[in-house]
Amino acid sequence: MDRNAQKPAGSPPQDRRRNHEKQTQGGGEVAVAGTQQDVERGIRDIPCALELPRGLFGMEAQVQKRLRQMKEAGVTDVWAGTLDAAALAKEAGLRVHGGFSLNLTNSAAIEWYTAFGLSDAELSFELTVHQAAALGGALPRGLIAYGRVPLMLTRNCPAANGPQGCLKCKTPPVLTDRKGVQFPIRCTGACSEVVNSVPVWMADRLNEIRNMDFLTLRFTTESMDERQRVLEAYRSGNAAPPPPGSFTRGLYYRGFQMEPAGRDRG
Ligand SMILES: [Zn+2]
Repeated sequence: MDRNAQKPAGSPPQDRRRNHEKQTQGGGEVAVAGTQQDVERGIRDIPCALELPRGLFGMEAQVQKRLRQMKEAGVTDVWAGTLDAAALAKEAGLRVHGGFSLNLTNSAAIEWYTAFGLSDAELSFELTVHQAAALGGALPRGLIAYGRVPLMLTRNCPAANGPQGCLKCKTPPVLTDRKGVQFPIRCTGACSEVVNSVPVWMADRLNEIRNMDFLTLRFTTESMDERQRVLEAYRSGNAAPPPPGSFTRGLYYRGFQMEPAGRDRG
């Protein structure tokens, strides 16, 4: 095993940035979850990265071991949505792509993660497209352009006590709110993720997303046919929006507001 092949920590930011530019010219990356055989098959056919769970809570040693095995199998890239996962991948000598849940919302954070050694990162999906376009720094960055974004990360599965506790389900269980809207649950790693009832859809607004190096299409509950249709819509670049109510623009136009400090606190 050549631990130095990826130069995870030792090379200065400038060198690292050049490597990334070369690497990002090669095309998109696809996260693959599954057996080692799946992974070996996957990396022969398409560039891929392993997605690390967003909640590890005691799985660190196990993940560390698995990362070493995956590196032996030829994996070079990892998606990490938390700082601890990113550190484990960096220690294993893998190239680390930062996930949306690192919550990058400003240029200082981008600079910090550049020094940390990320090769690129998804920005927070709580930014508007205009705020995202205005961020500084040199780290290649992207936005989630499609997908059911996570609303909650829970330590215990909200569906575990239901009649179809998620461990026995072949399809993800759902939470249903008082209006009958359904929110799928995905259990990964040591946590469960409640994702939005509808996906972010930007295929018809791609020209409004500026200054990004890549876009992420994040698949969660979609069938293979649905994935195919989504990919085609985004590739075509002029897709019509889906029916109203079946998608969201997320916060890309609304953004988020913070309560003024001290308000209502006497
Ligand atoms: Zn579950």
